[in-house]
Amino acid sequence: DVRIRVRNLTKRYRTPRGDVLALNNVSMTVNAGEKLVLLGPSGCGKTTLLRCVAGLEQPDEGEIEINGTVVFSSDRGILVPPEKRGVSMVFQSYALWPHMTVFDNVAFPLTNARVPKSDIRDRVRAALAMVGCAAFENRFPGQLSGGQQQRIALARAIVSNSGVILFDEPLSNVDAKVREQLRIELVSMQKKLGFSALYVTHDQTEATAVAHRIAVMNTGSVAQIGSPYEIYERPDSRYVADFVGATNEFPGTVVGRKDGLLLVDTVIGRLASRDAVDVDAGQPVVVLIRPENLHVTAEEEGLNVMGATLESTMFLGLFTEYVALVGDKRVILRSMRQELVREGGAIGIGVHPEHVRVFR
Ligand code: ADP
Ligand code: MG
Repeated sequence: DVRIRVRNLTKRYRTPRGDVLALNNVSMTVNAGEKLVLLGPSGCGKTTLLRCVAGLEQPDEGEIEINGTVVFSSDRGILVPPEKRGVSMVFQSYALWPHMTVFDNVAFPLTNARVPKSDIRDRVRAALAMVGCAAFENRFPGQLSGGQQQRIALARAIVSNSGVILFDEPLSNVDAKVREQLRIELVSMQKKLGFSALYVTHDQTEATAVAHRIAVMNTGSVAQIGSPYEIYERPDSRYVADFVGATNEFPGTVVGRKDGLLLVDTVIGRLASRDAVDVDAGQPVVVLIRPENLHVTAEEEGLNVMGATLESTMFLGLFTEYVALVGDKRVILRSMRQELVREGGAIGIGVHPEHVRVFR
């Protein structure tokens, strides 16, 4: 059951200094009840994609379908205006009007659509009750906390009953602690209300926390779509691996295959990987290892074990970060355990072949 389908979407902005290719042949779907997160650095086209779905920008090529209806098609010359698309949008700043009461803010999409007054009252009150803000209808946004304002913005988005909500970095204007609370709140609201969402963020932690699936974007294209787990554990490019989570990167040269393992000589020694990447002996590659997949071991040699010197230890609460030197190369490890090694002491570090990722 598909709520949003985007097919081969391309969008160029025409500027005095030439065209900007903001979206390059982008395809994706959002299923019923799903939160699909668009994740990528600033300028990669996230907002453009959202605005194209909402109908606030006109794409150059491709097709967009919402709730089974084609709302844009370059081939068939279809362009449905925003108010007829059945989607609502929640912006970065919540975009509540400060001079309007909570009631009037939430009522706005309905007033705009000329819904009869008595219907408006019932629907606004129902929406406010759903987000637990029934008591605030006569207040002004400035008299509410950030969390309450977010709920009001959400109530305004659900009041039209579209079932599809577009979020453009809705938490980016609040500080880290509040953001974490709002994230939890948003996830539980979505579970309760069951809407489908296309959710934009540049923050990897937020994406992982909120998403059913993540689409990682790179300069107008989709680099990879998958569950947060797949994106994190099985990135299929260096770009995705780098963007999502911390990594150690070591250049190396392929040695060959042995016992189902790919052997690579790297700047920190010979490493075995389970990757099925298509490479030949002698080929230059880059090996990526996540800090939490490296462990301190009592062994001194063996498969993927390297002798190192502990350079520094940093206790970071949830985990401790260790910087080790293999020869003159820095290797970062993260462990939930407190390792009993002094700075300057010798340690063995190891990694399972499962966690050695090889990229061309
Ligand atoms: P994001 O939301 O991921 O930060 P945007 O979709 O806002 O990215 O922008 C994608 C690209 O399109 C960027 O290079 C940006 O500079 C450009 N862009 C966005 N809006 C316009 C516009 N109205 N006119 C010209 N270029 C634009
Ligand atoms: Mg943006």
